Amino acid sequence: MMKDYDVFIAGGGIGGSVAAKFAARGGLKTLFVEKQKTPRGKPCSGIQFRYFEKILGEKIPRERLCRHQISRIETHFHDGTSFRAPFPMFNYMRKTFDHWLNQVAREAGAEFRDECEFRDFAVDGEEVIVTVKPRGGEPEKIRARYALDATGLTAMPMRRALRPQDFGTAASGGGINYYIDGPARLDPKTVYQFWDLRFSDAMFAWIYTKTLDDGRDYWVVGTACTSGDIRERQKLFYDYVREKFGIQGRIVEKEELLTGMDMKSRDRVWLGQGRILMVGDAAGLLDGVRGVGQDAAAISGRLAAQAILRSRETGAPVLEEYARLTRPIVTQTRANQEREIDQCRNNEDLKRYIKRNMYKTVVKMMVQMFLNYFRPVEKLRLLPP
Ligand SMILES: Cc1cc2nc3c(=O)[nH]c(=O)nc-3n(C[C@H](O)[C@H](O)[C@H](O)COP(=O)(O)OP(=O)(O)OC[C@H]3O[C@@H](n4cnc5c(N)ncnc54)[C@H](O)[C@@H]3O)c2cc1C
Repeated sequence: MMKDYDVFIAGGGIGGSVAAKFAARGGLKTLFVEKQKTPRGKPCSGIQFRYFEKILGEKIPRERLCRHQISRIETHFHDGTSFRAPFPMFNYMRKTFDHWLNQVAREAGAEFRDECEFRDFAVDGEEVIVTVKPRGGEPEKIRARYALDATGLTAMPMRRALRPQDFGTAASGGGINYYIDGPARLDPKTVYQFWDLRFSDAMFAWIYTKTLDDGRDYWVVGTACTSGDIRERQKLFYDYVREKFGIQGRIVEKEELLTGMDMKSRDRVWLGQGRILMVGDAAGLLDGVRGVGQDAAAISGRLAAQAILRSRETGAPVLEEYARLTRPIVTQTRANQEREIDQCRNNEDLKRYIKRNMYKTVVKMMVQMFLNYFRPVEKLRLLPP
């Protein structure tokens, strides 16, 4: 007999786990599945603002964080100039962090299966019939009233089925990180950003420190882009910072994420169709201008659960509720996607663009950080504003 749930969620990352936690806490029978064996690694810098705890509705345990937390940001330009500012942020490994978040959702009452891949779905009136495939097992059909696609930037199987026009044939962007052992003239409490179109046409390239499973700290050197050869950009950047900061040691690990979604499209945000909701990166909420996506993934997961609960209460279509609740973050993300940095023709333009916005951004950031303290989650202003 087919198993029956109120909510089915594909993806055990941040968006999926947060949606599962709040759906289960609201009394909904919830299943979330993760195709990888957990704890699983995920290409990500794992840096987030302090308001992240408010979105999660949890205090992040100290042992889930890296040894060094971020307290400063240092911004570098192509001509060698730079400036520093205080910048308190969380710093964690996604492997450790997401594993904890999976547990949080389970403790709230959600059922979790790892090594279980979402494969397919069909809408049947007021139900969604999904097919999952446990590793080594037979495909299984599950009935749910609502289905969420929280599978991140590479997979998005529900979005691919419903919006094939959003995908190109080749990868159109992604991110890459190298983990390096050995000393360097760098401060482990600082996150370094490099605004230089040779290294990144999407945002900035970066360096910071991370604690790996062996308990040791490593420098992470990485970049993201929406066009060109990311490995070439990364090589250029790595050679540049090795010399600039005397980075010694070997690359002990590389991680890479490439997406097939058209990252140049001005229409990346899409919330779903009928009873199928998109969450996090799958909804197109990754924001290159802000340089982060975990906060938007967590908020959208939480609001997707809230939308389902409200829809059951009011009888309004769930997508209408979801669109209403997510309007502030969707508006902000769309506005940022309109003014992406790849519109700068050269590095001089880029430096002017960053400097022009910098002072305004710092002031807005302080004001919005303060206001966020009092705002409900659905009214939070994503940072940097
Ligand atoms: C190199 C890099 C650095 C980044 N640095 C930062 C940063 O410092 N701060 C920040 O806020 N954001 C950062 N981001 C963005 C951030 O990683 C994403 O915005 C965030 O992870 C999105 O969360 P999500 O839950 O939508 O998807 P994900 O975290 O990608 O989770 C999706 C999950 O779904 C699973 N999955 C996929 N397909 C299936 C399937 N068919 N069935 C079941 N499960 C499936 C995947 O295995 C994965 O676990 C970075 C991204 C990259 C690439």
